[in-house]
Amino acid sequence: MSEIQITPVRQPKWSSVHSHIRGLGLDKNGKALRVADGMIGQTEAREAAGLVVEMVKQGRLGGKGVLIVGPSGTGKTAIAVAMARELGEDTPFVAINGSEVLAAENKTEFLMQAMRRAVGVRMRDEREVVTGVVTDLKYLKRTSPFYPYPVLGGAKVTLETRDDSGTFTVGPEVAQQFQELGIRKGDVIMIDVNTGEVRRLGRVKEKAAVSYDIDVTENVEIPSGRVRSRREIVRTLTLHDIDASIAAQRAAFTIFGFLREESAISDEVRSRTDELVKKLRDEGKAELVPGIMFIDDAHMLDIEAFSFLTKAMEGEFAPIIVLATNRGMTTVRGTDEVSPHGMPRDLLDRLLIITTKPYSEDEIREIIRVRAEEEEVELSDDALSALTKIGAERSLRYAVQLLQPAKLAAERRGSSRVEASDVEQVSKLFADLKTSIEYVEKYKDLLLH
Ligand code: ATP
Repeated sequence: MSEIQITPVRQPKWSSVHSHIRGLGLDKNGKALRVADGMIGQTEAREAAGLVVEMVKQGRLGGKGVLIVGPSGTGKTAIAVAMARELGEDTPFVAINGSEVLAAENKTEFLMQAMRRAVGVRMRDEREVVTGVVTDLKYLKRTSPFYPYPVLGGAKVTLETRDDSGTFTVGPEVAQQFQELGIRKGDVIMIDVNTGEVRRLGRVKEKAAVSYDIDVTENVEIPSGRVRSRREIVRTLTLHDIDASIAAQRAAFTIFGFLREESAISDEVRSRTDELVKKLRDEGKAELVPGIMFIDDAHMLDIEAFSFLTKAMEGEFAPIIVLATNRGMTTVRGTDEVSPHGMPRDLLDRLLIITTKPYSEDEIREIIRVRAEEEEVELSDDALSALTKIGAERSLRYAVQLLQPAKLAAERRGSSRVEASDVEQVSKLFADLKTSIEYVEKYKDLLLH
């Protein structure tokens, strides 16, 4: 029996504001459905993004990148997130801002690290594992001539699958993990025989449990097959994860290494990673999963950063670079050259450009509705209208940000449903960006002291 397990790569980072987005919402011909996969409107941009995803899947993007141009708050980030989701669950997504790069002590190092976080390596490994429902568990004590009290000496655990059962004696390290995870009868667990790592997969289903005489709350199928077996384990790490682990191993050998942490990732470490990944790939044990590196406000980058990116895009281990801007003709930072979107020509030549348009009021309403559902905020029709108005007049981001405070305001007056008055109340308390800037302007002299 073989089972595949995929550990997603740090997806939760963006899951907060864009967690409702599950894909680009296209039909099988690549046409955008008005509302699908949590995406609303912006149909041409989504269809174009769909073509890019298709090119990536077929390995036909080769050395090119994407530039999304549109006013702020028109879903540029949302589209980049949707592209990553379309590429697969374990596809990395890394978002940075042009101004962060500019502020970094070492711009190219900053970009390099972001790029390596945006490339996944899916690894296949054969492991010997023991898995099944825990039907009996006893901890063993051990005494020592040097210590007066008995200590945890291991455990005796009986595991059952549909077809097999076995009793194993495990050492203190494994037994300690049982205790930490709170393993008890009815849990479905997996122990990696080679590393001794214990994982709790869930608890057996109510119905299945009857025959096991176990009380059950969660749902998980009883595994079938042999209790002890070889399985294929699939996990996705990023190039940066591998860099960091090689660097850490190196550090363990040098006394000064302990002091250096992340900065210890040298070019040499990175080439070691690349060699290792190539070797695993040639042996069929690993495959590359190029993810998305999204750079918002890309016009903030300077010529040094642009040159680095242009070159890096061609690399064998490059992620898909998606730049976004809301600027037209402007000077390329670090030069006197005025260029479209403040970017050098040789880079522009490599970019497929997608444009986003401001949302209609209907679209804003729909986005707020989807977002409210995702955040479990119940809105009255009037509250939705009030938020839509705020979204249209101020910004969509601001309207979405008001959802939680409005929910709290409703709860304070003992209601689970947000009314227009709650929205009005919190919109007076929290400022949108435009208002907060005006505020600073107005009190400039006072605030500076
Ligand atoms: P930009 O990058 O252009 O500034 P954004 O994607 O950051 O835009 P926000 O203004 O932050 O957009 O969007 C506010 C919220 O609306 C976020 O939760 C975002 O996921 C969501 N959103 C934006 N556009 C869409 C869309 N077309 N469909 C669904 N949700 C969207």
